[in-house]
Amino acid sequence: MKSGRDHLASLRDGRTVFISGSKAGDVTAHPAFRNSVQSAASLYDFQSDPANVECMTFTSPTSGDRVNRTWSLPRSREELVDRRIAMEAWATTHYGFMGRSPDHVASCLAGMMMGIEVFEAYDPKRAGALQDYFRYARDADLFLTYVIINPQADRSRGAGEQADPYLTAGIVDEDSEGLTLRGAKMLATSGIMANEVFVSCIQPLGKGDEKYAVSLTLPMNAKGVKLLSRKSYEAASPSVFDNPLASRFDENDAVIYFDDVKVPWERVFVAGDTGMMMRQFHATPAHALQNYQCQVRLMVKLRFLMGIAHRIAEINGIIGLPPVRDTLGQLAAEAALVDGMVHGMEAKGHAHGDFFVPDPHLLYATQVLTQQLYPKIINTLRDLAGGGLIMLPSDSSDFANPEIAALIGKTQQSPVVGSQDRVKFFKLAWDAIGSEFASRHTQYEMFYAGATFVTKGHSFRTYDWSKGGDLLKKMLGSYDLKQVSTPALSLAGS
Ligand SMILES: Cc1cc2nc3c(=O)[nH]c(=O)nc-3n(C[C@H](O)[C@H](O)[C@H](O)COP(=O)(O)OP(=O)(O)OC[C@H]3O[C@@H](n4cnc5c(N)ncnc54)[C@H](O)[C@@H]3O)c2cc1C
Repeated sequence: MKSGRDHLASLRDGRTVFISGSKAGDVTAHPAFRNSVQSAASLYDFQSDPANVECMTFTSPTSGDRVNRTWSLPRSREELVDRRIAMEAWATTHYGFMGRSPDHVASCLAGMMMGIEVFEAYDPKRAGALQDYFRYARDADLFLTYVIINPQADRSRGAGEQADPYLTAGIVDEDSEGLTLRGAKMLATSGIMANEVFVSCIQPLGKGDEKYAVSLTLPMNAKGVKLLSRKSYEAASPSVFDNPLASRFDENDAVIYFDDVKVPWERVFVAGDTGMMMRQFHATPAHALQNYQCQVRLMVKLRFLMGIAHRIAEINGIIGLPPVRDTLGQLAAEAALVDGMVHGMEAKGHAHGDFFVPDPHLLYATQVLTQQLYPKIINTLRDLAGGGLIMLPSDSSDFANPEIAALIGKTQQSPVVGSQDRVKFFKLAWDAIGSEFASRHTQYEMFYAGATFVTKGHSFRTYDWSKGGDLLKKMLGSYDLKQVSTPALSLAGS
């Protein structure tokens, strides 16, 4: 079974990551990435721990080895729930702060396999490539990220209408061996710590955009794959005590530039068919399964944030105040909503061929609501905390100076904890809701699944409008202009 050490070794592959003016080199040792990379590696140690193997893994039907359960294709509600329990357990290890943990893209690919007939109808050769690749990725228990969004430039124009036709990654050439990809994609979360990247497009493409209609995978060290990392919050967090989350769970985001990268046909699942871009996600269970994983992770994260909210109230001695209890009650209801929706998606799931899929509309409804809920919840936590998030010593070294430590003792007080624990807690709370790391998380939860006009579009598309329409028809049919008095309602036959 894959271990954390195996994963770390697999990342020392000569990949090209740029940060702060130079090439990062070994990401497992670089101060911008090493702790977060270690957190990713520890996911594999967690799953291979004998206590967790049964929950976290299943036996690959081809290799006979145990691999992560998210590579399994659920055939019943029970199997879907087993997958969820594994995802929930993994998310608990990072408190929901690693959005693109390996179970995300594994879920996407598993969903594509559950709808392999869509690829077969498109091109049996490409369907075969996807099946072979899935087997390979599953049996090696690969960590994949994906880039499925075209870089922002002029959003009023399509990919092919930008000033540079290769701003967005597209095919520049193809031959008997494969195709050549040139251009950029956003935004490879976890790219620096993943083994491979799935490159595709989930945004609408029109006539003339065929070169951008690709669906393929590449190892992160493929020649010409260049990752441009954003600022590292981990590098800016040298002490775990001061930034307990940013210092360990900064999964990173990066633009990827494909500098004339050669992609062999064995790794190409779609090329040149704009319609297939949407069908691969929406006519198969891929989009539902990948985003269901997101809501399972968010459910765990919200539980953690509820822990912070409750502790703020205890530490500041406000837990008994009726308006504070109101606030906590509201927060608890909001967190429970996500929990309930995840269970609802499972309860209301349906068969897709031989497989079992979470209910798409409940999923999209949750996406729409949580995009709004997350910033609201963060704001409520800030409101509960007041200046406590800021009334903090500069950093942990203040405790090493006896004069400052004594003053911290005098000024950091709480009815329920000592001064050091108060500082420790509020530093964590700030990292979860206020720091630059936390702010990136708000942006993440608002956008990872698409802007709101996109998720609301999915909700519109998948809601069963006919039930309401039928009720409305029945109501309108129950009276007309000739109706002058209100007859007693007859329920019989209604
Ligand atoms: C932290 C973070 C991590 C991410 N990780 C990944 C990842 O791992 N892989 C990946 O592929 N992507 C990732 N993304 C990208 C994410 O999928 C996109 O941010 C999302 O799809 C929205 O696209 P956009 O950012 O280009 O915003 P836009 O599409 O440019 O939208 C921004 C705003 O512009 C307005 N707008 C733009 N177009 C329209 C329109 N047609 N109609 C109405 N209003 C419009 C809306 O107000 C919208 O909210 C990540 C994003 C973030 C913030």
